[in-house]
Amino acid sequence: MADDIRDITIIGGGPTGLFAAFYAGMRGASTRIIDSLPELGGQLTALYPEKDIFDVGGFPRILAKDLANNLVEQALQFEPDVVLDEQVQEVVRDEDGFTLRCRGGTYASRSVVVAGGKGAFEPMPLPASGYEELLHKGVEYSVKDPTVYKDKRVVLVGGGDSALDWVLVLKDLAAQTVLVHRRDGWRAHKATVQRMEAAVDAKEIELRTFHEVREIRGTDRVEGVTIFDNRTDEETTFECDVVLSFLGFKPDLGPIKDWGLELVGKNRVKVGSLMETSVPGVFAAGDLVDYEGKLDLIATGFAEAAVAVNNAVHFVDPSARVNPGHSTSMKVFKES
Ligand code: FAD
Repeated sequence: MADDIRDITIIGGGPTGLFAAFYAGMRGASTRIIDSLPELGGQLTALYPEKDIFDVGGFPRILAKDLANNLVEQALQFEPDVVLDEQVQEVVRDEDGFTLRCRGGTYASRSVVVAGGKGAFEPMPLPASGYEELLHKGVEYSVKDPTVYKDKRVVLVGGGDSALDWVLVLKDLAAQTVLVHRRDGWRAHKATVQRMEAAVDAKEIELRTFHEVREIRGTDRVEGVTIFDNRTDEETTFECDVVLSFLGFKPDLGPIKDWGLELVGKNRVKVGSLMETSVPGVFAAGDLVDYEGKLDLIATGFAEAAVAVNNAVHFVDPSARVNPGHSTSMKVFKES
């Protein structure tokens, strides 16, 4: 549990939240970022890491995951506290500012910038019996530390970058790696697919295309799976220790709807030109917000983040100017 108060807590670590964190650090505000995903980057890393982006200023062309990495590097230079895998459930006003409640703890903040995008991405559940019961008992949807799978028999499910990236890492650690995918097309980078196919040919990975998981067996831990061929319905059952499901994430605005912020429709937070919401001290930016002329773009999210943070800084300390001045002449960069 972390209850040390921060000047600004940024909810959402997508491009908008990351740029907001950089900006808050540059303004000298103590900062925390909280994201429900296990990784920073928002849609860039969760939805399209291998796609090229062409319309971010200064980058004629950049891979989404490279832009995310750059944003993380820029944001972390001021060492904000980063809390991952935690969805903010509630934002409650109190005498010092706000208390943010998550499942893993509560976080105090003097102001809040909501950069929740299209909402908290929830992992798509694997439609197999035993999934819910064995979740986090051998069934996982993200890998935090690959070494825990050393010498384990691992089944990976999916055909995107996460499934392929991890199967390539785990083949050298695990006792056995089986990749299960419901078709023979892949949503991953071409070079990664080629590496996976080479590893399959070298018998380092067992590949089961046109297969899906029907049942995950086990009592306290995963003990085995039953998969089936979706063309013939023929079943295969085998023992394993771990099932890693990489079926992607579904967006859901979720708890943000219940924080008392004025909404536009069901999924947008209304903001004014200072990116202020209807609750004093709570600002918002990025895909989540609505105002006349709003565009859902990374570039607009950056500008909104700058406006939101500068106004949050002024909210926390009314003697601080809203206008940050130019970074070119800031002391904070000259010192580093
Ligand atoms: P997001 O990236 O959605 O990040 C929001 C973060 O907030 C998420 O990580 C989420 O987990 C977290 N979150 C939400 N609620 C909570 C909560 N309660 N607690 C904790 N965390 C929470 N834009 C462009 O400008 N150019 C392009 O070429 C482009 N291509 C795209 C291609 C695709 C396939 C897609 C899907 C989008 C594309 N976009 C593009 C849009 C761009 O990705 C979004 O505009 C951008 O990601 C919005 O950033 P954000 O930080 O506001 O939100």
